[in-house]
Amino acid sequence: MVSRVIPVDPFDLVIFGGTGDLARRKILPGLFRRYMAGQMPETARVIGASRSEPSDAEYRDFVRAAVEEFVTEDRDDAALSQFLERLHFVSIDAKGEGGWAQLADLVRDDVIHAYYFSVAPSLFGDLAERLHKHGLADNNTRIVVEKPFGRDLGSAKALNATLAQHFDETQIYRIDHYLGKETVQNLMAVRFGNVLFEPLWNSQYVDHIQITVAETVGVGGRGAYYDKSGAMRDMVQNHLMQLLCLIAMEPPSRFSPDSVRDEKLKVIRALDPVMPHHIVRGQYDGDGDTVSYREDAENARSLTESFIAMKINVSNWRWAGTPFYLRTGKRLKARTSEIAVVFKDAPHSIFGEEAGRHRNILTIRLQPNEGMTLGVTIKEPGPGGMRLIDVPLDMTFADALGPDAEEAPEAYERLIMDVIRGNQTLFMRGDEVEAAWAWTDPIIEGWEGRGEAPKTYDPGSSGPEDAQMLMHREGRRWRDIRD
Ligand code: NAP
Repeated sequence: MVSRVIPVDPFDLVIFGGTGDLARRKILPGLFRRYMAGQMPETARVIGASRSEPSDAEYRDFVRAAVEEFVTEDRDDAALSQFLERLHFVSIDAKGEGGWAQLADLVRDDVIHAYYFSVAPSLFGDLAERLHKHGLADNNTRIVVEKPFGRDLGSAKALNATLAQHFDETQIYRIDHYLGKETVQNLMAVRFGNVLFEPLWNSQYVDHIQITVAETVGVGGRGAYYDKSGAMRDMVQNHLMQLLCLIAMEPPSRFSPDSVRDEKLKVIRALDPVMPHHIVRGQYDGDGDTVSYREDAENARSLTESFIAMKINVSNWRWAGTPFYLRTGKRLKARTSEIAVVFKDAPHSIFGEEAGRHRNILTIRLQPNEGMTLGVTIKEPGPGGMRLIDVPLDMTFADALGPDAEEAPEAYERLIMDVIRGNQTLFMRGDEVEAAWAWTDPIIEGWEGRGEAPKTYDPGSSGPEDAQMLMHREGRRWRDIRD
């Protein structure tokens, strides 16, 4: 089984921030992978832009080094040289007028032009305004906007309003790279492409749902930036919220951008406010090998959380009574992202008490080893009577799909190709982002108003003890964090 790669239409992609970290690690290597896969048409061009002044040749050297560092699988060096020929660089300050005329000369009128705003959000408005002013915005234009999209409802609204002055909503692609992950899309395929799960996908059969995104790294070099944000703004408001939406949403009538996004929006609007005792915030401590969060953030009095666990209720017909537990943090014991749908006990055990309590759990792993596992109860083999054990029905994509799984594009590459195709399904709509902030703001204001300090937790642990208690006191427990 070899996946079909359909080339996209010819395009010019301008990367503002083309010399930055994101461009170097993700965007440019991702584009090269799509080039190697035959998805980028021969006439496509990529134009880096920032205040630096490298020549085209110097920029190509920069991109070659980035590709050599980050495309570690089989690399076609002849293809790399051809890919580099498609690259150009223009020196532009988002806040100045220089360079725009040169960019206008380079960008072709008769192909799709996409502008990737891979710069600080404070520059998004300047870029939108100048693209318009210099005649670079027309019906063929798309803009790609990176996170963070605001830091509260007010700033997100202001940003939406600024972009809306110059671009139609159908031209704005707000990236949440979690939505570009293969497993996340498979979540929709599994839910809506099989009859098996959907009848059980509700509070009658699901006891609770856990979403965990755990990292082993600390905030390191990003400490000062992270300290103004914290886990709630950096992870929950966007990535975990998107995962929750895809799990909880009603089946859209079709797999089209607005049908899917309408359903996600309904979920966000159905979220109850979260009670303070349903939230546990944490900050990692130091040990002999690693420094504490406060040292990383260079802020000895920091009240910012590097960990958060919370219980969320979705108040609608399908989910009332089935809590969603979310947990994310840094410097935890393993790097893993997973969603676990924990089903209820069978209503009656014909095997008696001694057979034990067994639950079906559907685990959807985003990383590592993308795939799904369904825990099924069977008889323990052997002559020892009817004793029950749980075994996994395992569908690790790499095993199930062979080379196709290896060839699956990474999140950024897939999303960039979707931009060129004009498909907004996997991008957040403006009202979705605002609804997410409208739910998030009072929670943050609550703990800020109370001056609450996060609990400390040991590096390499599962977070603060109170996070375990959040579930224990309700007779549930978190799944182990492991890779
Ligand atoms: P970065 O490494 O600091 O790069 C910033 C880029 O912006 C550089 O190319 C810089 O080049 C350019 N720039 C700065 N001021 C400019 C101006 N006035 N006019 C034009 N260009 C300007 O930042 P990054 O990590 O790549 O992040 C870029 C965006 O992606 C941010 O919004 C960030 O939040 C988001 N993001 C990043 C990551 C990541 O993993 N890095 C992940 C998710 C989201 P010059 O100095 O040459 O102008």
